[in-house]
Amino acid sequence: MNPLQTVDPQIFDALRGELHRQQVGLELIAAENYVSEAVLVAQGSVMTNKYAEGYPGKRYYAGCEFVDIAERLAIERAKQIFGAEHANVQPHSGSQANMAVYFAVLKPGDTILALDLAHGGHLSHGAAKSFSGKIFNSESYGVDRDTETLDMDAVRAIARDCRPQMIVTGASAYSRFIDYAAFADIAREVGAYLLADIAHVAGMIAAGLHPSPVPHADFVTATTHKTMRGPRGGIILCSKEYAAKIDSCIFPGIQGGPLMHTVAGKAVALSEALHGGFQEYQRQILDNCQALLGELKRRGYRIVTGGSDNHLFLVDLRDQDITGRLACTLLDDAGITLNQNLIPFDPRSARETSGIRIGTPAVTTRGMKEPQMVQIADWIDQVLRHRDDATLRQRIRADVAELCDAFPIYRNGLMAMLFSELPQQVGA
Ligand code: PLP
Repeated sequence: MNPLQTVDPQIFDALRGELHRQQVGLELIAAENYVSEAVLVAQGSVMTNKYAEGYPGKRYYAGCEFVDIAERLAIERAKQIFGAEHANVQPHSGSQANMAVYFAVLKPGDTILALDLAHGGHLSHGAAKSFSGKIFNSESYGVDRDTETLDMDAVRAIARDCRPQMIVTGASAYSRFIDYAAFADIAREVGAYLLADIAHVAGMIAAGLHPSPVPHADFVTATTHKTMRGPRGGIILCSKEYAAKIDSCIFPGIQGGPLMHTVAGKAVALSEALHGGFQEYQRQILDNCQALLGELKRRGYRIVTGGSDNHLFLVDLRDQDITGRLACTLLDDAGITLNQNLIPFDPRSARETSGIRIGTPAVTTRGMKEPQMVQIADWIDQVLRHRDDATLRQRIRADVAELCDAFPIYRNGLMAMLFSELPQQVGA
């Protein structure tokens, strides 16, 4: 019997339920992905037992010779992939990576200028309820009302006006290329540091399919669990000039012992990004995104900005007269998970929203391609058109599970071994 099942059957059941949910449902949440079994092995490993405060070769604990190997590999691979002089792979999350950058060069009360949360920015970029908005003065730029894209002249005008100490570029819900060189030029003009947060688009940048901010920004932060398809966590990239400051802001600044099992998982994911079809994977994410949004467009849906340059897009549902919140609930009922999302200049509240955000990294990891994207668009359209038809949703849920069955998230390895007698309806 599996030791987890014996020791904690409730968690075992929850885990099995989650595996089943992931297997039978279509994941269109743009921030999610499925790590490889190799990453799972590294994460669920004895490295979780090890304290390793400090950095490789300079630890405050004995017995770090093997975790040092893992961290050095993660650092070298991150530097190689992104062409950076220095990498810190210890941040527990993307938000903590951002926090360390702010603390490295800003004082409380300094001004951060970043993309408005309501236009696709992230909480850790100065939102009032986040540490970043509480400790620092927060100013924002938005997208242009007509094009729904960043207007760099407008960003420059705001920067000249508010004279920030830090400009942040990067987003959670922005589907277009970002002109990092223009941001750097503005930052230089007003004497601000530039942080590029590539949490979402890191995978495409790693594959050379999206412009890289590394040559332009003072600091680059990323998450490792979105398009990078690694364990949950963050990384920071910078030049040698800022290396010591950044490292000391992570430890001892805002973190204690690094999660060495996660650092090992990051090393594995970074290795996967260097080898074995990663570029093809990223290209397919982009192709799938085009196929899905193209089919929704053909069926009359308005796509914010008219399209996408990356792995995600926003659908404006005002013409369909349905809120993002209801759309999200109905689609979840049909086995399709995605986010409700504000659209730029949304007349509705963040609780209701007029839009949904759709991303293709996870379905692409399953091996799905353009024909499956067209099928998914059809299901989304049917659910939203016939919103009172619960029977239709149940039928689509079954069809979704059948499609997912042909594209398993884990094949014959570790997970199958652990959960071999997975029931059809876990928890039912
Ligand atoms: N930055 C951006 C642009 C994000 O989209 C996210 C996560 O959604 C983060 C930072 C924060 O990552 P985490 O959830 O790991 O703190």
